[in-house]
Amino acid sequence: MRIILLGPPGAGKGTQAKDLVTKYGIPQISTGDILRKNLADKTPLGLEAKKYMDKGELVPDSVVVGIVRDRLKESDCKKGYILDGFPRTVPQAEALDAALAEMKTPIDKVLSIEVPDSELVKRLGGRRTCRSCQAGYHVMFKPSKKEGVCDSCGGELYQRDDDKEEAIKNRLKVYMASTAPLIGYYKNKGMLATIDGVGDMKVILDRMVKALKG
Ligand code: ADP
Ligand code: AMP
Repeated sequence: MRIILLGPPGAGKGTQAKDLVTKYGIPQISTGDILRKNLADKTPLGLEAKKYMDKGELVPDSVVVGIVRDRLKESDCKKGYILDGFPRTVPQAEALDAALAEMKTPIDKVLSIEVPDSELVKRLGGRRTCRSCQAGYHVMFKPSKKEGVCDSCGGELYQRDDDKEEAIKNRLKVYMASTAPLIGYYKNKGMLATIDGVGDMKVILDRMVKALKG
């Protein structure tokens, strides 16, 4: 199964992707995680991407398209994958279409997760992420058992630089301008399912599974 998770920052793409990984046994491909890993490793790519990420801007299309093209060729993607945070612009979606046409492996479904802005701001402001295993938490909505410590691996939880107020505002603006047009793009292709992203995380997972079956 090849799935795209579409939705604004804070919609729950990463949270749901991790449960879909367990359910379907396919990998999560998060361009944000790949970029942050490059940044932590201080690679030239990571240092270049940081300039955009800290401000809540999008990294140039050519950079992320290259990352995804390479990743999709890895053997664990043969059974399928969950794209989380990619594509984020129409040119990225077109580049993905071209790459997948060449590989003869079309996307099965695009799930567009809908959450109102006021809720997104609350979610992003309280998000915490494990530095070691990237598990996601929220100080109110999904707290770790011990403050600042990952339940899964004992790693340190941190607040992302782009989860500060100014960057959050800009990311929501950038989403509306550059990424929201993808909803129409995939709707026109008959690939889109809309998911209500408000409510219990397990209930949202059920909604997604139902949409994937339908
Ligand atoms: P995205 O990957 O779309 O940016 P995340 O999955 O990281 O979003 O979720 C953003 C924040 O919101 C995280 O702190 C997560 O724990 C929290 N969250 C995710 N889904 C829900 C939900 N259904 N209800 C409340 N909080 C949620
Ligand atoms: P995310 O982890 O998905 O919230 O992404 C964090 C940041 O990484 C974004 O705000 C962008 O700066 C960058 N990024 C991640 N994915 C993409 C993408 N597909 N296109 C452009 N920039 C991206």
